[in-house]
Amino acid sequence: MAFLIAIFGLLIGTLAAHVAEAAMAKRALAKPACPFCTAPYRPLQWCATLAFLTGQGRCRQCGRYFRLPRLAAELFLALGWGLLVGLNGLNLRVAFAMLTLIPLAMIMVTDLEAKLVPNAIMLPAVGAIFILGILCGPALPTLKTWAWWHAPAGGLAGFIVLRLLVTLGVAVFGPGALGEGDITLATYAGMVVGFPLVIITLLLMIAYGGIGAAGVIIARKGSLRTAIPYGPFIVLGCATTLLWGPQILHWFLS
Ligand SMILES: [Zn+2]
Repeated sequence: MAFLIAIFGLLIGTLAAHVAEAAMAKRALAKPACPFCTAPYRPLQWCATLAFLTGQGRCRQCGRYFRLPRLAAELFLALGWGLLVGLNGLNLRVAFAMLTLIPLAMIMVTDLEAKLVPNAIMLPAVGAIFILGILCGPALPTLKTWAWWHAPAGGLAGFIVLRLLVTLGVAVFGPGALGEGDITLATYAGMVVGFPLVIITLLLMIAYGGIGAAGVIIARKGSLRTAIPYGPFIVLGCATTLLWGPQILHWFLS
């Protein structure tokens, strides 16, 4: 069951990645084509994961490899959906959690490719989660009790913390360290997991960010001059919280 859902996640992830690329380029959704030379992809190459698995990870015409963020988004959604259903079974609440991962997969593509968190993706997502959060509570698969304000309060916490981090980041590193888009993304993530688990999401985001920054410093032998996209750390923090947030919170408090 979980495996079938993971395969389905891969398909939806493929679609989400193409929609994200179209939103990023502000163009209409068209037949998938190479971003470098615009040669159309073969159907098997529409899904980056399948293309790499079958040794077709390069464009036929210009020979360049596909962009890896599409692969990251597809695997993120496949793994996220598979784990959600594997750990919790499939019910309406799990389906709600699965849906909230789709905009996050799209941000993996846009932020890793162009350090962009497009409003065309985030504003509808924030609007939808605001309404659903008030009506259905945070999107946690194991949630039993909730109040109408738990999801909006989580969003507010995400907004305030990232607003402070952006101000701080600009003061310390100059403009470009963290973007306005990261604030919108954290507001969304906060509403998805709600209060109090938004605290876990933000702590995980900082932990993942630290690991990521350390990785970049080691890879570049000592400097962190170029800003690294921060969105994926928020995305991973949110997904980890959806999967294991209550356990992590319990572990923190005990
Ligand atoms: Zn090409």
